[in-house]
Amino acid sequence: MSFTLAIVGRPNVGKSTLFNRLVGKKLALVDDQPGVTRDLREGQARLGDLRFTVIDSAGLEEATDDSLQGRMRRLTERAVEMADVCLFMIDARVGITPTDQVFADILRRKNANVILAANKSEGRAGEGGYLEAYSLGLGEPIRLSAEHGEGMNELLYALYPIV
Ligand code: GDP
Ligand code: MG
Repeated sequence: MSFTLAIVGRPNVGKSTLFNRLVGKKLALVDDQPGVTRDLREGQARLGDLRFTVIDSAGLEEATDDSLQGRMRRLTERAVEMADVCLFMIDARVGITPTDQVFADILRRKNANVILAANKSEGRAGEGGYLEAYSLGLGEPIRLSAEHGEGMNELLYALYPIV
Protein backbone atom coordinates (compact mmCIF):
# COMPACT_ATOMS: atom_id res chain seq x y z
CA MET A 1 0.00 0.00 0.00
CA SER A 2 1.31 3.43 -0.82
CA PHE A 3 0.81 6.33 1.52
CA THR A 4 1.92 9.90 2.12
CA LEU A 5 3.80 11.14 5.17
CA ALA A 6 3.99 14.88 5.89
CA ILE A 7 6.77 16.17 8.12
CA VAL A 8 5.43 19.15 10.05
CA GLY A 9 6.72 21.38 12.81
CA ARG A 10 8.18 24.80 13.45
CA PRO A 11 11.31 26.03 11.65
CA ASN A 12 14.72 24.63 12.55
CA VAL A 13 13.62 21.40 14.24
CA GLY A 14 15.19 19.28 11.47
CA LYS A 15 12.32 18.53 9.06
CA SER A 16 14.38 18.98 5.89
CA THR A 17 17.24 16.94 7.33
CA LEU A 18 14.86 14.00 7.84
CA PHE A 19 13.30 14.55 4.40
CA ASN A 20 16.74 14.37 2.80
CA ARG A 21 17.61 11.23 4.73
CA LEU A 22 14.35 9.50 3.72
CA VAL A 23 14.53 10.58 0.09
CA GLY A 24 18.27 10.15 -0.24
CA LYS A 25 18.77 13.24 -2.32
CA LYS A 26 19.31 16.83 -1.38
CA LEU A 27 15.92 17.91 -2.67
CA ALA A 28 15.03 20.14 0.24
CA LEU A 29 16.93 23.18 1.26
CA VAL A 30 18.59 22.80 4.63
CA ASP A 31 19.83 25.87 6.35
CA ASP A 32 20.83 26.91 9.83
CA GLN A 33 18.58 29.93 9.57
CA PRO A 34 15.08 29.22 10.85
CA GLY A 35 12.35 29.32 8.25
CA VAL A 36 14.39 28.89 5.10
CA THR A 37 12.16 26.17 3.68
CA ARG A 38 8.98 27.94 2.69
CA ASP A 39 7.17 25.58 0.38
CA LEU A 40 6.00 22.03 0.25
CA ARG A 41 8.47 19.59 -1.27
CA GLU A 42 7.59 16.07 -2.26
CA GLY A 43 9.86 13.07 -2.70
CA GLN A 44 9.81 9.28 -2.80
CA ALA A 45 11.03 7.81 0.47
CA ARG A 46 12.44 4.42 1.40
CA LEU A 47 12.53 3.20 4.95
CA GLY A 48 13.08 -0.49 5.62
CA ASP A 49 10.62 -2.31 3.36
CA LEU A 50 8.32 0.71 3.05
CA ARG A 51 8.11 2.96 0.02
CA PHE A 52 6.06 6.10 0.38
CA THR A 53 5.66 9.73 -0.57
CA VAL A 54 7.06 12.25 1.87
CA ILE A 55 6.22 15.94 2.08
CA ASP A 56 8.59 18.41 3.67
CA SER A 57 6.29 21.11 4.94
CA ALA A 58 7.18 24.64 5.75
CA GLY A 59 7.13 25.60 9.38
CA LEU A 60 5.22 28.47 10.87
CA GLU A 61 7.42 31.48 10.24
CA GLU A 62 8.29 33.20 13.48
CA ALA A 63 8.63 36.61 11.87
CA THR A 64 6.16 39.21 13.06
CA ASP A 65 4.70 39.62 9.55
CA ASP A 66 1.15 38.36 10.03
CA SER A 67 0.44 37.54 6.39
CA LEU A 68 3.57 35.39 6.18
CA GLN A 69 2.57 33.61 9.37
CA GLY A 70 -0.85 32.93 7.93
CA ARG A 71 0.67 31.58 4.75
CA MET A 72 2.92 29.20 6.65
CA ARG A 73 -0.01 28.00 8.66
CA ARG A 74 -2.06 27.38 5.53
CA LEU A 75 0.84 25.47 3.95
CA THR A 76 1.04 23.25 7.01
CA GLU A 77 -2.70 22.66 6.94
CA ARG A 78 -2.47 21.75 3.26
CA ALA A 79 0.35 19.29 3.97
CA VAL A 80 -1.80 17.70 6.68
CA GLU A 81 -4.73 17.40 4.26
CA MET A 82 -2.52 15.77 1.61
CA ALA A 83 -1.06 13.25 4.04
CA ASP A 84 -2.22 9.93 5.45
CA VAL A 85 0.04 10.39 8.44
CA CYS A 86 1.94 13.35 9.88
CA LEU A 87 5.30 13.24 11.55
CA PHE A 88 5.16 16.11 14.03
CA MET A 89 8.73 17.03 14.88
CA ILE A 90 9.94 18.90 17.93
CA ASP A 91 13.49 19.82 18.92
CA ALA A 92 14.38 17.71 21.96
CA ARG A 93 17.26 20.04 22.77
CA VAL A 94 14.97 23.07 23.00
CA GLY A 95 11.89 21.42 24.50
CA ILE A 96 8.26 22.37 23.84
CA THR A 97 7.71 25.99 22.76
CA PRO A 98 4.49 28.00 22.30
CA THR A 99 4.91 27.58 18.53
CA ASP A 100 5.02 23.80 18.98
CA GLN A 101 1.70 24.13 20.82
CA VAL A 102 0.23 25.97 17.81
CA PHE A 103 1.21 23.04 15.59
CA ALA A 104 -0.16 20.53 18.05
CA ASP A 105 -3.47 22.41 17.96
CA ILE A 106 -3.56 22.36 14.14
CA LEU A 107 -2.97 18.60 14.15
CA ARG A 108 -5.62 17.99 16.78
CA ARG A 109 -8.15 20.17 14.99
CA LYS A 110 -7.46 18.36 11.70
CA ASN A 111 -7.78 15.03 13.49
CA ALA A 112 -4.50 13.96 11.90
CA ASN A 113 -2.79 10.64 12.34
CA VAL A 114 0.28 11.79 14.25
CA ILE A 115 3.67 10.30 14.94
CA LEU A 116 5.36 12.56 17.46
CA ALA A 117 9.13 12.73 17.05
CA ALA A 118 11.67 14.34 19.37
CA ASN A 119 14.50 15.14 16.99
CA LYS A 120 18.12 16.00 17.88
CA SER A 121 17.94 13.19 20.44
CA GLU A 122 21.48 11.95 19.89
CA GLY A 123 23.49 11.98 23.10
CA ARG A 124 21.87 13.05 26.37
CA ALA A 125 21.01 16.71 25.65
CA GLY A 126 17.57 15.78 24.38
CA GLU A 127 16.26 13.84 27.33
CA GLY A 128 14.40 16.73 28.97
CA GLY A 129 12.74 17.78 25.73
CA TYR A 130 11.80 14.21 24.95
CA LEU A 131 9.97 13.91 28.29
CA GLU A 132 8.28 17.31 27.79
CA ALA A 133 6.87 16.04 24.49
CA TYR A 134 4.50 13.73 26.39
CA SER A 135 2.69 16.85 27.63
CA LEU A 136 1.49 17.62 24.08
CA GLY A 137 -1.10 14.87 24.47
CA LEU A 138 -0.26 13.38 21.07
CA GLY A 139 0.90 10.02 22.29
CA GLU A 140 4.28 8.56 23.04
CA PRO A 141 7.11 10.39 21.29
CA ILE A 142 9.87 8.57 19.43
CA ARG A 143 13.50 9.66 19.72
CA LEU A 144 15.08 10.64 16.42
CA SER A 145 18.34 12.06 15.24
CA ALA A 146 17.71 12.98 11.63
CA GLU A 147 21.27 14.21 11.28
CA HIS A 148 22.88 11.05 12.63
CA GLY A 149 20.29 8.58 11.38
CA GLU A 150 19.27 7.37 14.83
CA GLY A 151 15.74 6.20 15.59
CA MET A 152 14.89 5.26 12.02
CA ASN A 153 13.77 1.79 13.15
CA GLU A 154 11.49 3.38 15.74
CA LEU A 155 10.00 5.48 12.95
CA LEU A 156 9.49 2.34 10.86
CA TYR A 157 7.74 0.57 13.75
CA ALA A 158 5.56 3.64 14.38
CA LEU A 159 4.48 3.61 10.72
CA TYR A 160 3.57 -0.11 10.53
CA PRO A 161 0.31 0.02 12.50
CA ILE A 162 -0.84 3.12 10.62
CA VAL A 163 -0.13 2.13 7.01
P1 GDP B 1 13.79 22.61 9.32
O1 GDP B 1 13.75 24.11 9.35
O2 GDP B 1 12.82 22.03 10.30
O3 GDP B 1 13.64 22.04 7.96
O4 GDP B 1 15.24 22.18 9.89
P2 GDP B 1 16.57 21.79 9.08
O5 GDP B 1 16.47 20.39 8.57
O6 GDP B 1 16.88 22.86 8.13
O7 GDP B 1 17.64 21.75 10.28
C1 GDP B 1 17.86 22.87 11.09
C2 GDP B 1 19.19 22.72 11.81
O8 GDP B 1 19.13 21.62 12.73
C3 GDP B 1 20.35 22.42 10.86
O9 GDP B 1 21.49 23.09 11.35
C4 GDP B 1 20.52 20.92 10.99
O10 GDP B 1 21.83 20.50 10.69
C5 GDP B 1 20.19 20.70 12.46
N1 GDP B 1 19.71 19.32 12.74
C6 GDP B 1 18.82 18.59 12.04
N2 GDP B 1 18.67 17.36 12.57
C7 GDP B 1 19.48 17.30 13.65
C8 GDP B 1 19.77 16.28 14.64
O11 GDP B 1 19.25 15.16 14.61
N3 GDP B 1 20.64 16.62 15.63
C9 GDP B 1 21.24 17.84 15.70
N4 GDP B 1 22.08 18.07 16.70
N5 GDP B 1 21.01 18.82 14.78
C10 GDP B 1 20.14 18.56 13.77
MG1 MG C 1 13.30 22.94 6.19
